[in-house]
Amino acid sequence: MADEWLKTACILCSVNCGIEVKVEDRHITRVRGDRASAASHGYACEKAQRLDFYQNGRDRLTAPLRRRADGTFEEIDWETAIREVAAGFARVRDTWGGASIFYYGGGGQGNHLVGSYGASTRRALQMVYSSNALAQEKTGEFWVEHVMFGTGVRGSFEQAEMAVFVGKNPWQSHGFQRARPILRDMAADPKRALVVIDPRRTETAEMADYHLRVRPGTDAFCLAAILGVLVQEDLVNHDFIHERAENSTDLFAALTEVPVAEYCTRAGLSEDLVREVTRRIARASSVSLYEDLGIEQAPHSTLNSYLEKLIFAVTGNLGKPGAMNAGTTLTGLFSGSLSSATSPVGGHRIIGGMIPANVIPDEILTDHPKRFRAMLVEAENPAHSVADSARMRQALRSLEFLVVIDVALSETAREAHYVLPSCSQYEKWEATFFGSPFTTETEFANTFTLRAPILEPLAGTMPEGEIHRRLVRALGAMTDDDVAPLHAAAAQGREVFATELGRVLSERSQLGAVLTVLLYETLGPTLGAGAENAASVWGIAHEFARRYPESVRRAGIRGQDGELGEALFEAILKNRSGVVVSVDPFVETWRRIHKGRINLTIPELLPELRSLRDERPSAQPDFPFVLSAGQRRSSTANTIIRDPKWRPKDPQGALWMNPEDASQLGVKSGGRVRVITKRGSAETMVEITDSMLPGHVSLPNGTGLWYPDREGQEFQNGVAPNDLTTTEDRDWFAGTPFHKHVRARIEAIAS
Ligand code: SF4
Repeated sequence: MADEWLKTACILCSVNCGIEVKVEDRHITRVRGDRASAASHGYACEKAQRLDFYQNGRDRLTAPLRRRADGTFEEIDWETAIREVAAGFARVRDTWGGASIFYYGGGGQGNHLVGSYGASTRRALQMVYSSNALAQEKTGEFWVEHVMFGTGVRGSFEQAEMAVFVGKNPWQSHGFQRARPILRDMAADPKRALVVIDPRRTETAEMADYHLRVRPGTDAFCLAAILGVLVQEDLVNHDFIHERAENSTDLFAALTEVPVAEYCTRAGLSEDLVREVTRRIARASSVSLYEDLGIEQAPHSTLNSYLEKLIFAVTGNLGKPGAMNAGTTLTGLFSGSLSSATSPVGGHRIIGGMIPANVIPDEILTDHPKRFRAMLVEAENPAHSVADSARMRQALRSLEFLVVIDVALSETAREAHYVLPSCSQYEKWEATFFGSPFTTETEFANTFTLRAPILEPLAGTMPEGEIHRRLVRALGAMTDDDVAPLHAAAAQGREVFATELGRVLSERSQLGAVLTVLLYETLGPTLGAGAENAASVWGIAHEFARRYPESVRRAGIRGQDGELGEALFEAILKNRSGVVVSVDPFVETWRRIHKGRINLTIPELLPELRSLRDERPSAQPDFPFVLSAGQRRSSTANTIIRDPKWRPKDPQGALWMNPEDASQLGVKSGGRVRVITKRGSAETMVEITDSMLPGHVSLPNGTGLWYPDREGQEFQNGVAPNDLTTTEDRDWFAGTPFHKHVRARIEAIAS
């Protein structure tokens, strides 16, 4: 085993690079990019080298925990845990209704099969409301994309003549395959151009041809100014708009009125530079854009997303090589459609099925009869990641029943009545539904990688599929009678199984609600030893093939009707380096865009666009700094690695500060300061860097977690960013938190 390279994927960011690892004594000892990977073709960044800190975290759980009356935990056996958890949720459902039980989870950046099985438990309990970490960043963008295009669109950075990154530093946060080589190629080619809109001089900004270094929080002014120049200098693509878009009148009227010079000043930008960048965008044969948390977690979040998308929509950069395109998506199979649904207490907009994370405490800490009274949290850590951690903890503590499924004793798990330990992402069959698309000169391809375990489950842990199967059984939503004919059919092959499944579901329609665990229990055992957790992928492959048959066939998968889904599943099951699951010529984008035309005007957001004119910077003498809370650095990824030693260079996560500010405060690099916001304060070390603008400071994400030392003594390592944020600072439309724009005061601490 120690000499063998095992194929898997990195789980530290959404692109899930294919990797090969060596394992010795349950440790991941060596990591390299998997050259055969269908998605990443051998690329992996240095962060993957540190995955063993995740796999062998000292705080991993090895038995279910139950809270005692005195507040401490005791270990219990699985049978007791499942019985009591199912009974606890059933009690809340039967007393207050399933809508009173709230689900937060569905997986992180590499473990989406969790969500597929969790769906069965949710339906068995008649749960209605849910959310997850995406509601802290992308819901505004999802909504804008649906209203403008009816589908999600992505850039083709490999081929783009011009790339524009808005509040995004792909050098560190990636977001598309092989980001660093693509950025290097682009920077080295004088015919191509790289634009970064960001207050910070990021690694990507240092490579860029143009860096529009906006003042923190003024992205909407910068984006509106670019659009103003496009319209006022008549640089928009009229032929494209005539052929492919509609509803331009009100939008163009608003953009004609944009005072470009004033908005550039407001954003701290040279008007000449903004005009030069805009003309370059208009001239380019192809432009791809990528917006990210820098503008999504900042003032005007949803408006920012709208303006960013208008830049490519009015310049004709959609549905062609090097530009934005709509491919097939696996996430699209599950995401909720736009609806008028709102949260039960506050009436907050639900987008893509997700309640805004910032309003969750308000939906609990109230005497409203429809409040959430119980929660199931799975593979997420809202007590750490949602704004105002103290209030979130207060909300969790007030619940009648809280159950957490996780690998470690997270900050959220510490508040639970029961904690169910899942095995790690490297101890079970797993996958991501984000897809890992890539583009060629002519096509858009999407990939899917089903990862096999590289280690046996840690003793005492289970894959989530098994946990949910047991919960659904304990709830009585799936019985021996239900599964018996399917076990028999599965033994005869998947074709017979598919026919029998159709028959069983037609006779017992209630089983459709728990389909994923039904597959886990009946089809799962036939997939190979310990491969039950892969069973839900069978249903997903069939649904994907049913929805996109031509795209799947273009990827070289052969078959008609049900055979196509079966062939796709077989390919996924067999290929440890992943499979190209769909291929689309760029023109296919127009079949995915609703009615083949872009909707340019969003009436809900035009008043906000117009109101920028009246917005004035407010002097805040008590809080003169803007803090970006949760910045992605070379030593941070998502927060599934809890051991601070994985950040050897910056274990505590220093506060980055401009030299001018440091001089005025009289602090040096390594000196200590107190960061004070209207919600809280924290002490931290300073690192002086001119990559920050004066008045702008940042703390990294992933710090502030509690972790035991070798003696078992727990320490909080670094600042927990959400000890400093508030839930009320959020986008008026989508509820997205302003984590990247927290008003703060900094005080030096005498050494
Ligand atoms: S952190 Fe992201 S880019 Fe880096 S190896 Fe992991 S998945 Fe790939």
